[in-house]
Amino acid sequence: MPLRQVTTVKNLIGGKLVESKATNWFDLHNPASNEVIFKVPCSTTAEMKEAVDSCAESFKTWQHSTIMTRQSIMFNLVRLIRANMGELAKSITTEQGKTLADAEGDVLRGLQVVEHACNIPSLLMGETAQTIAQDMDAYSFRTPIGICSGICPFNFPAMIPLWMFPLAIACGNTFIMKPSERDPGAAMLLAKLAHEAGVPAGVLNVIHGGADAVNFILDEPRIKAVSFVGSDHVGHHIWERGTKNGKRVQSNMGAKNHGVIMADANRTATLNALVGAAFGAAGQRCMALSVVVFVGESRQWLPDLVTMAKSLKVNAGHIPGTDVGPMISPKARDRAFAIVEKSVQQGAKLLLDGRGVTVPGYEKGNWMGPTVITGVNTDMECYKEEIFGPVLVCVEVETLDEAIALVNKNQWGNGTAIFTASGAVARKYTAQIEAGNVGINVPIPVPLPFFSFTGNKRSILGDLNFYGKAGVQFYTQLKTVTSLWREGDATVLKAATVMPTMR
Ligand code: NAD
Repeated sequence: MPLRQVTTVKNLIGGKLVESKATNWFDLHNPASNEVIFKVPCSTTAEMKEAVDSCAESFKTWQHSTIMTRQSIMFNLVRLIRANMGELAKSITTEQGKTLADAEGDVLRGLQVVEHACNIPSLLMGETAQTIAQDMDAYSFRTPIGICSGICPFNFPAMIPLWMFPLAIACGNTFIMKPSERDPGAAMLLAKLAHEAGVPAGVLNVIHGGADAVNFILDEPRIKAVSFVGSDHVGHHIWERGTKNGKRVQSNMGAKNHGVIMADANRTATLNALVGAAFGAAGQRCMALSVVVFVGESRQWLPDLVTMAKSLKVNAGHIPGTDVGPMISPKARDRAFAIVEKSVQQGAKLLLDGRGVTVPGYEKGNWMGPTVITGVNTDMECYKEEIFGPVLVCVEVETLDEAIALVNKNQWGNGTAIFTASGAVARKYTAQIEAGNVGINVPIPVPLPFFSFTGNKRSILGDLNFYGKAGVQFYTQLKTVTSLWREGDATVLKAATVMPTMR
């Protein structure tokens, strides 16, 4: 018998929570117990069309709302997110599995983007040029593009929706959100808070589902832009189909982030950073440090790293003292197990094997404890695949140049970090490394929102990054006005048929 009644997740259309008439539903499991806790609909085509109608109708007025109105709504949203931090974190821990403290971090990193969106009057300022010709001035506006949409992954149920809808709405667009079907609770709560903050009904709509909902978004001509964060193959599909249909697409995808350890680095600080960045959130972060590259003598730190990894507490996310929560699903865990197994067959060594971990009281959870693999080369499965679990792959090289060559050879370019006490080494690394988010003695260098999230290579498709200046560019288009205000009337009646040169 279930411990609690299973409830359904609703669509949000025109400011109202609407029970879906879906015929297909996803079971949402708590990852620690695998108990079904919610039913998530595959919104019907009629419901999704209604959501787009609602966005289209609201855009007529929202695009002309004053910038100060939109700014004050963002200030309200910041306040409400802070006030509801506990409820948001609880929802994330229940549906996604990460620890409560980590879930608060998930919300806070998204909140920072909303705080930045409070700066929308300055962010939307265009350019001006006076007297470009006699009595003629030119100026540009950043204007909204229409209906935008967001397709979210499971691993940051609050942060990623917050990378998307607040900035899009602050720019004067309306928005359709499709949260991950595996943990839509935080996105639903955020949408409710957005309405409480003053976002008018219909400006933000939420639909649910998997591939069908995504393909609806990609094919619906009234949707002008698609923001996607998720896995490699889905991101490629979204970019190809979306751009073919004439939409703007920003697609952030998979990663394999390398942490390069120089022997002169502060040993304690580096080990703390490595272990937290590899195993926190059960390794299910796109910026997790999943490969460590020991340069020269730093390889001697391996035993200490294993000791620290072993000491992490694996348990349900809501239990105080938990370091590593469950993985999102049995399928994700079994895939990680299989990659580890294959790598051992390929000759890798398991210094720490987290596959046998069980948690009393939560025997059915998707557990995998911290796992450390050494003796790895770049042809092995564990190096080639994004494992997205608590698995740290260790590679050893002799020199910084070898480390740089190794990292640059990797197809992904989301992030990297170097740990060193040498400014010259750090400078050389940052200058020569191809990955787009670089940490120097900083393990998970997700940029704050006055910059943008600048993953590169196979980790992104599209020209404009999420949030920051690039995010504003993505959600707006430029309108440039050339104006002539001349005193007195023209005296000669004669049309010029040559191209105006404005001189
Ligand atoms: P996913 O690709 O499985 O799901 C993401 C979204 O795509 C979901 O909303 C899902 O409903 C939809 N989807 C799933 N299958 C689909 C299909 N066949 N056709 C169309 N849509 C489909 O990703 P996930 O497992 O939820 O998230 C983990 C991935 O996200 C990892 O690869 C991680 O690296 C990546 N990620 C990247 C960043 C970044 O900024 N680069 C940030 C967070 C997560």
